[in-house]
Amino acid sequence: MPRPLVATIDLSALQSNLALARKAKPTSKIWAVVKANAYGHGLESALQGFVDADGLSLLEWDAAIRLRESGWTKPILMLEGAFDAADLKIADHHRLQIVIHHDLQLSMLKDAAPSLSAPLDVHIKINTGMNRLGFTVDRIQSVYAVLRNLSCVGKISFMTHFANAENNQAVLNADNQYQQFSSAIKGLDGEISVANSAGVLFHKEMMADWIRPGVMLYGASPTGEDAVAIGLLPAMTLHSQIMAIQNLQAGEFVGYGSIYKADKLTRVGVVACGYADGYPRHAKAGTPVLVDGQRVPLIGRVSMDMLTVDITALPHVQVGAPVTLWGEGLPIDEVAAASDTIAYELMCAITPRVARAVKKIK
Ligand SMILES: *Cc1c(COP(=O)(O)O)cnc(C)c1O
Repeated sequence: MPRPLVATIDLSALQSNLALARKAKPTSKIWAVVKANAYGHGLESALQGFVDADGLSLLEWDAAIRLRESGWTKPILMLEGAFDAADLKIADHHRLQIVIHHDLQLSMLKDAAPSLSAPLDVHIKINTGMNRLGFTVDRIQSVYAVLRNLSCVGKISFMTHFANAENNQAVLNADNQYQQFSSAIKGLDGEISVANSAGVLFHKEMMADWIRPGVMLYGASPTGEDAVAIGLLPAMTLHSQIMAIQNLQAGEFVGYGSIYKADKLTRVGVVACGYADGYPRHAKAGTPVLVDGQRVPLIGRVSMDMLTVDITALPHVQVGAPVTLWGEGLPIDEVAAASDTIAYELMCAITPRVARAVKKIK
């Protein structure tokens, strides 16, 4: 018997969220971001849910090869570019577009030039203040000139990444960054892509040839606020069952550390899901869990394979009752907030031992 814990991926939700991104920026083409195994949803599901995307973007080279082998023929963008010269061979063979974000990548490309079968499309990554990847603004004209003179370079595009697209009050806001970006590429010819999900949702005025939405496509809000209000649908529902029930007398404890003490007769449901499945161990007491469709609070410490909930209010619930940890009926953003993290982390953290199911497009 397999454990009852399953992550169900809803392909219609992926499709609908992509359509919402399209509606937010109707004139931009979409790089659907599928890094980190499509934010934990699986590349196969992403391929089916995002058939309407104009391109897929990610940073794992083995996964990019899998996308091509699975039949994706539209553009693929490697968001961090080549890590070594062998990657450029892969890019050549599978016709992948690459980001160039530092000088080493520039010289790798020069060195690889004679062995490439056809020019590669490249994206110059511009550091507009986030200070992770990219050439500084003052270098863009010269980097462009170098690339333009390489016969192994095809189309040149420009991109940057926002640190705070969800917050205009931030010390470094998207408008600041966009201004930097625009001045860096002044007079240069090429397509641009700037917006992540927050940029797509909260900077509709910011025009670009391409957008790069990630988390919103999976149904979570980049701000952690109400994704439902934005119109996003949860693409992953993590569900399980009650596998045991305990009746605690007042004064009894539950779980490791005995951090929960019953103050009255308490019915405790034991759920087959723990931190070895990706459920956050630091989820606080009171984190909502759906049992038989009703919200109940998490109690006690999340352990490796189990967690416990207070089902005193649900006397009818028996072993085998359905449980939802997040997804349909229980926004992942809420669970993330109760665990002092963001939905991104929860999605990506689902571990390989969790069974997967796919809800097909109707
Ligand atoms: C991950 C990533 C995105 C997507 O960001 P979201 O906040 O998930 O929308 C966009 N661009 C780059 C370069 C990324 O690495």
